[in-house]
Amino acid sequence: MHVQMIPYLEIRRRRCDCCDRTANLAAKLLLMDGRALLGDLELCGTCAAAFGSLAQETPGLVREEGPPSGRPVPGTAGGED
Ligand SMILES: [Zn+2]
Repeated sequence: MHVQMIPYLEIRRRRCDCCDRTANLAAKLLLMDGRALLGDLELCGTCAAAFGSLAQETPGLVREEGPPSGRPVPGTAGGED
């Protein structure tokens, strides 16, 4: 099981699924089991940053999806330099 984080490119003011505060959402978190989508969370900036730091402490847990024109997606298997 892993988590994919997809940053929002547009401003959406809604309730954060994590902290229940109404704020500008920063990212959508997809909970994946293999290729199957188990669920998703819409996160405000604070919670997205918290998950981001969690991802750095736990490599392989969170895979961050960049925007189409952004940097390449990290975490592909076997490609360490
Ligand atoms: Zn939040």
